[in-house]
Amino acid sequence: MTPFGMTRPTIATQTLGCKVSQYESEAVAEAFAARGYEVRPFTDACDVYVINTCTVTAESDRKSRQMIRRAIKNNPSAIVCVCGCYSQTSADEVATIPGVSVVIGTRDKLSLPQLVEEVKARRMTGDFSVLVKNESLEGAPFEKMCITRAPRTRAYVKIEDGCECRCTYCAIPGARGPVRSKAPEDVISEVEGLYRSGVREVVLTGIETASYGADFDNGYRLGDLLCELDRRGSAERIRLGSLTPELMTADFVEKIRALSLLVPHFHLSMQSGSDGVLRRMKRRYNIRMAKEALARLREAIPRVEFTTDLMVGFPGESEEEFEETLTFVREARFLDIHVFAYSRRPNTPAATYEGQVAQEVKHARSAKLIALKNQIRDEILDEYIREKKTLSVVLEKRWDDGSYSSHSDSFLEVRVMVPKDKGDLHGEIVTVIPVAHRDGVIIAELN
Ligand code: SF4
Repeated sequence: MTPFGMTRPTIATQTLGCKVSQYESEAVAEAFAARGYEVRPFTDACDVYVINTCTVTAESDRKSRQMIRRAIKNNPSAIVCVCGCYSQTSADEVATIPGVSVVIGTRDKLSLPQLVEEVKARRMTGDFSVLVKNESLEGAPFEKMCITRAPRTRAYVKIEDGCECRCTYCAIPGARGPVRSKAPEDVISEVEGLYRSGVREVVLTGIETASYGADFDNGYRLGDLLCELDRRGSAERIRLGSLTPELMTADFVEKIRALSLLVPHFHLSMQSGSDGVLRRMKRRYNIRMAKEALARLREAIPRVEFTTDLMVGFPGESEEEFEETLTFVREARFLDIHVFAYSRRPNTPAATYEGQVAQEVKHARSAKLIALKNQIRDEILDEYIREKKTLSVVLEKRWDDGSYSSHSDSFLEVRVMVPKDKGDLHGEIVTVIPVAHRDGVIIAELN
C-alpha cells in the first residue's frame, strides 16, 4: 500500500535454466521494484509476470511453456512477459500462446518495465495484441545489469554473455549471440557493493565464463579480473561458474594459485570422458588435456575439489566410448557430477547425426554413471571423516532443529549441528569438523 492508500502494482518472476538467467531475473525484479512494483512469489495473482525461459533441452522448452501457462492461469488479466533463450529461438511459438502479452529474447531485458507501460497504454485503447521485440544479437552490446542486494549469503554476478564455440549439440550460441563481457570496473563495483551489503560469497558466472574478455582489445581476461578482485579484497569469497579444461593452462593456474579470495573448487564441464565423443561434440580439449588440467590444479591448490557435467547418449556413443567415460570418472574423482542425457536440439549439427542413441540405452547409461559418481563421492566424504579434515563453511539455511545447511569453500554440502545456545549464526563463516555423511551431505560439528 502506498502512503496515498493506493495499492502498489505487483510483479513475479520465474526463471528456468542457468545461473545467468537467475541473475538476470533478479536484476529485472530490481528494475520493476525501482518503479514502485512489489515483488511477489510466482504463485500469487500478480499484475505482471516475467518468465525467463531456457532452451538447453527439449524438456526446458516444455517447462518454459508450462510456466507461461501457469502465470496466465494465476491471473488471466495479468501482463505476461516472456524472455530468455527459448523465446529468442522460438518467438513465434511463444507469441501464439493465448494470454502472452510481451515476447522479447535474450537482450534488453531491462526494457521490460517500459514495455509493460506500453502494453498498459495499448490496452487502454482496446489493443490486446502481443508485443514482440525479438532483436538480432549481432552487434548487441553487453546489457549492463547490476544487482544491489541478494536475499542470501551467496550471490551470482553475470560477467559474460554469449558464446562463440560451436559444440555440435548446443543451441545456446543461437540464443545468446557473440561473446560480450562486462567491463572490469563494473564487475568490481558490483562485487564490492554486494560484499558491503553482507554477501559472503560471490559466484562469477556467464554463458561461457572462460571467454571473459575475449571481446576486449587489451588482452584483459578472466585471470586478470580475479587478480584485481583479490588485490582489492573485493569480496570474502569468490567462486567461479562453469569452466572448461582448456582454460587451465600453466599460465592461468600460476596466476590464480595464490589468490586468497578464490575458493578451492572448480566446475569443469567435461561433457564426455571419451576422445571420440569429444571430437564429434567439437569440444576444444581432449582427455589428456583434461587430466593435465586436473593434475595442475591439484598440485597448485591442495584442498581443491572438482565437479562436472557429463552427457550420456551423444549420437554414435558406443558401449566402448561409454566405458571410456566411466574409466575417466574413476581416475578424475569428481566430488559431484551433473549427469544428463543428450537432447536433440533444432538447428544443431548433432541433431542430424547418424547413430541416435535409444532412450532406454540413455537411461541405462545415466543410471550406471550416477551409481558410480555416488560411490566416488561417498569415498571422498569417507576420507574427510577418516582424516578429520576441517571445512570452512558459510552457514546458510537454519532448520528447526538448530542445524544449518551450508557449503564448504571446496563445495561439499554440509549440515552443521549447532548448539541452540549459540544463537543465530546465519551468514557466519565457521570451521567445522565432519563426523558422518548421509545422501552425499556431510554432517559436521563446530570445530
Ligand atoms: S561452450 Fe558449447 S555447450 Fe557451452 S554454451 Fe557454448 S556452444 Fe553451448
